[in-house]
Amino acid sequence: MTSTPSHRISYLLTLLLPLLLSAQSIAQTAAAKKVFMITDMEGVSGIFDTELQCLPYKSPRWEESRKLLTGEINAAVDGLFEGGAKEVVVWDGHSSGQNLSVSDIHPRVRLLTGAAVSPTLELDSSYSAIIFVGQHALAGAEKGILGHSYDSQNIQNIWVNKRPTGEIGAIVMLAGVFGIPVIMLAGDTAACKELHQLVPQAECAEVKSGVSRTAGFMLSHPASCALIHEKARRGLERLAEFKPYRVVGPVEVKVELTTKGNRGFRPREGVEQLNDRTWIFRGKDILDAWLKFSSF
Ligand SMILES: [Zn+2]
Repeated sequence: MTSTPSHRISYLLTLLLPLLLSAQSIAQTAAAKKVFMITDMEGVSGIFDTELQCLPYKSPRWEESRKLLTGEINAAVDGLFEGGAKEVVVWDGHSSGQNLSVSDIHPRVRLLTGAAVSPTLELDSSYSAIIFVGQHALAGAEKGILGHSYDSQNIQNIWVNKRPTGEIGAIVMLAGVFGIPVIMLAGDTAACKELHQLVPQAECAEVKSGVSRTAGFMLSHPASCALIHEKARRGLERLAEFKPYRVVGPVEVKVELTTKGNRGFRPREGVEQLNDRTWIFRGKDILDAWLKFSSF
């Protein structure tokens, strides 16, 4: 059989085309794996007492807490990169960015820190997944270690369309607006349960289990890091199984303040005071309603 140069080129292309196409799709999948990590302190293994451990520069054991949090975060980052992440952004969410330092955070991440971060955490649709590390359950959760919803001094309860919602639920729903699924959480048993109610297939690293709000069984730091590493890797490897959580239709966010609570809300369009402790924020969607509540 004879062949001209142009025949040979088209034959070569026929052979190469499937390879080129699959390389392109691998590149697209890989490029999409940009992960945002929400971090908090109350869900880290070993943490059970706010005054003793969680108040930056005030708590006698805060420096230790900071190190434990950083260790759990760095373990998750290793897992994410093994699971195929190309980029990881870590948000220092506890007490407005006073805990994490670029001196000991994982060298491959970018750290988002400081108090003046938008209520939607600078998220955009370029992210392909969100994970939580050090996350606690909502206010009043049964055996939820240090459970609260954003502000334990002022907020008693939050409901989104009548569903009790804390920090986990709010992030799951807001992330859905940007098309981002929440795939993994590290925290106590109550926090894992809370995420599983919204995202049943999520990976969960249960690093501690509460016996009350201020006591529980804790994994050692190396054991919790190993578990988190594994779950973060698995979560990202399973990314294709996750869909963003969508809240359809108009949304009502109801917020009940504590007896001493005062968040400076004022009535305006879409914002109504029900009684001396309860406010309603209405919007055309979750983002609209949530911004009325969180940026008053
Ligand atoms: Zn929190």
